[in-house]
Amino acid sequence: MNENMLWQYARLVVGVGINVKKGQPVTVNCPVECAAFGRLLTKAAFGAGAKDVFMVWRDDFVSRERWLHADDTMFDAVPAWDVLMSKELIKQGAGRISIAASDPENLKGVDPERLRRWSAAAGRDLKEVSRDVMANVVPWCVVSVPIPSWAKKVFPGIPEDEAMEKLWRAIFKAVRITEDGDAVENWREHCADLEGKARAMTEFDFEELHYVNSSGTDLYVKMPENNVWMAGGELTKGGVKFVANMPTEEVFSAPLRTGVNGVLAASKPLVLHGNVVEGIRFTFRDGRITGIHADRNEETLRAEVELDEGSHYLGEIALVPYDSPISNSGILFYNTLFDENASCHFAFGQAYPSCVKDGEELSTEELAEKGLNADSSTHVDFMVGTRDLSIIGKTRDGKTVKVFENGNFAI
Ligand code: ZN
Ligand code: ZN
Repeated sequence: MNENMLWQYARLVVGVGINVKKGQPVTVNCPVECAAFGRLLTKAAFGAGAKDVFMVWRDDFVSRERWLHADDTMFDAVPAWDVLMSKELIKQGAGRISIAASDPENLKGVDPERLRRWSAAAGRDLKEVSRDVMANVVPWCVVSVPIPSWAKKVFPGIPEDEAMEKLWRAIFKAVRITEDGDAVENWREHCADLEGKARAMTEFDFEELHYVNSSGTDLYVKMPENNVWMAGGELTKGGVKFVANMPTEEVFSAPLRTGVNGVLAASKPLVLHGNVVEGIRFTFRDGRITGIHADRNEETLRAEVELDEGSHYLGEIALVPYDSPISNSGILFYNTLFDENASCHFAFGQAYPSCVKDGEELSTEELAEKGLNADSSTHVDFMVGTRDLSIIGKTRDGKTVKVFENGNFAI
């Protein structure tokens, strides 16, 4: 791969993604197959003045072996040292970089009961950690680089090195890195565009949005009072601007917990716990998921929805035009970081506190009082956008506004 583009990418993640400050520790969660990029991130982080860089190596092979063969008692609790490390790094203000790259079917055939128990354990033991991350106590950034097993799933039927090359090219395009361009400048402009759209959505002060398309989606979504739409960059509690996802194309908020009614049909497969879930359909009544269906791996999906009370409710509503760069690539990435940024989506589970005015200052109970789905140990995005999606909004002062028409923004 082009060295100049790789180095631009590493500097972009460190400089704009987590926006590292002098003397700040950095942690990188990195698959072993991405070691070369992990090293570049380390170099870029020290170059930007990081106090230290802590690598957390991951490996699909080792992980699958553990899932299949580790002692059964290992799936009911997160090891105390792991919890401690995460908490301590947050306490020290460490920026968190995570590289999302995995074989989409790495855990195929693993006992779903193990996955369910682990999900529950991780949700419980890492609750404080994920709450702090979602409330932007520290800057965090999820990015991706290709690995062979994943590239072959995205581009089947061609040699591995060609698939890797194609996936690299697709990722660079998605994160706006060109050979002779200025990635940081590209991102500044891109974030400003998205933030403008988010401000417009907030100013409308929508009370309800009605989704309809020909795949069977017919859904009414009420919004909480003082809802805030977010996009592009976010601020940490300490006021540092960072970008949580690279790429990002979404404008998002959180629905009123008890205000969702109707049917929602997913438009893309969802990779969940190393399994591919296809053909998802949810039915909602007063916010609660009352019907769950998937054509494939329904059990994996059902276990996650039934994880806790909050996982039965939506925590995110996100708008992405059908006619947008990642969507136009026509590539199904089998990786939520990319697929959610190619499609309107929702997430079930925990809402981001920033989606309601001054939400980052509020406790879980206060956020719940404002109408957010504030207490779940999961957050799973799933894609619903289609070419023919229409969204009609009703504002709190009684106006009707076409928000989406034929899959794209109409405002
Ligand atoms: Zn989202
Ligand atoms: Zn999400």
